[in-house]
Amino acid sequence: MLRARRGTTTVALVVALVVGVLAAACTGPAPSPAGTSSSTGNPATAGVAATVAPVDPTLPGRTTDDVARLTVDALQTYWRTALPGRLGTPWRDVTTIAPVHVDDPSAPQPPCAAKAADLRGNAFYCPAADAVVWDADVLLPQLRERFGPAGVVVVLAHEFGHAVQTRIGVDEAQRADPAAHPTILLEAMSDCYAGAVIRHLVDATATGGPVDLPMRAAERDAALRALVTFRDPLGTLAADTTAHGNAFDRLSAVEDGYDSGPTACAGMTTAGRDFTQRRFGSAADRARNGDLPLDRLVPAVSGDAKAWFEGLVAARGIAGYSAPDPRPAPPCADAGPQGPVAYCAADGGVVTDLAALGALQQRSGDFAGATLLVSRYALAARAGATLSATGYDAGRSAVCLAGAWTARLVDPTGGFGLSPGDLDEAVAVLLDEDWAETDAVGTVDPADNGFERLGHYRRGFDGGPGACGI
Ligand SMILES: [Zn+2]
Repeated sequence: MLRARRGTTTVALVVALVVGVLAAACTGPAPSPAGTSSSTGNPATAGVAATVAPVDPTLPGRTTDDVARLTVDALQTYWRTALPGRLGTPWRDVTTIAPVHVDDPSAPQPPCAAKAADLRGNAFYCPAADAVVWDADVLLPQLRERFGPAGVVVVLAHEFGHAVQTRIGVDEAQRADPAAHPTILLEAMSDCYAGAVIRHLVDATATGGPVDLPMRAAERDAALRALVTFRDPLGTLAADTTAHGNAFDRLSAVEDGYDSGPTACAGMTTAGRDFTQRRFGSAADRARNGDLPLDRLVPAVSGDAKAWFEGLVAARGIAGYSAPDPRPAPPCADAGPQGPVAYCAADGGVVTDLAALGALQQRSGDFAGATLLVSRYALAARAGATLSATGYDAGRSAVCLAGAWTARLVDPTGGFGLSPGDLDEAVAVLLDEDWAETDAVGTVDPADNGFERLGHYRRGFDGGPGACGI
């Protein structure tokens, strides 16, 4: 999106439809008498490119059913300790574990659904039967094929998160006070619990413990990519009864569980959590679900970024800093590999590779390119503020400042505003590429990956530029 700064034009930065859809909706089947709680959400179609090879060298010879069984065992084991230890509630193993063969006409009736075929594309937790149920023919094999075992892990961990909620009384609390427990909050809690489980597997793997499901940085990023495919369709509002969250909000919840554990998940409230989904700015905004041409995108974003970063530098007491206009040429000889946009320390410029930006836009949407562009303006501003534009910390600061710049566009007071999908596009480029974190000579901390980049971005998004070292 992006509503234009001046005039009446409304333009849209939009998502390219790049991901193969994972089967159908995942909102759970028709409600059982007591209702089915949850599900992972709807696989949507944008944002994250399907360019990442499945990460599955670790479980050779295992079928997807094997992976699901190992995952369930790991989840039951984890919660047997974590629920009493962290939340003071005894864990009861989930009563019914139900892989459903949706392609088998003779399959028995699954829990909380009329027939097996109704489960196609679904995974859910049904509190009435205390059952975790999933499509074993389509959904999980596709997740495993695209994302490796981590795709299976994150989806089942999310559903177990709903079982945790049932055990600690969240279902009753929701019945007593529905307004304080909207769907999107309960879904965020489940994503958060999934993050806690991922952390457990990462730690166990790192310490050489006996883990059936090794989880390293690559698998962790694969889990995030898998969950992102279940983000809400564009235009969903946080208040919608089916809302599960956009990619940014869902991964933020995972990160909170990863960093702070199950106690933080259980303590989530609507008051303490900002959900970033907003409606389209206008009918035209909605209708223009197409890409904003680069010849409009680049000047629009850079114009806004220039003014914002000039203000930041001035606030540090440095007068006279003037941010550059972007230029497609000449290239910068010493910039190193920074991706489609480079900050040129030699002359203080920002250099765009329009062909590469166009390719990125096709893959991940226009706001992916906007995020990179702003991260380069961040390096330029650091140099203008006499801070280093090289080194790992400069790269982290650039990602952080891109988050800080973006946050003010969620509820803008005028000029620009985000449209649905923009944050998902930022998430896509941060997960898929390290470009936003490169410094002025194209280097980046090799230990950082998608998970860390999202963390840096979110630090600025939540904390503002002051959290970014400028
Ligand atoms: Zn759910």
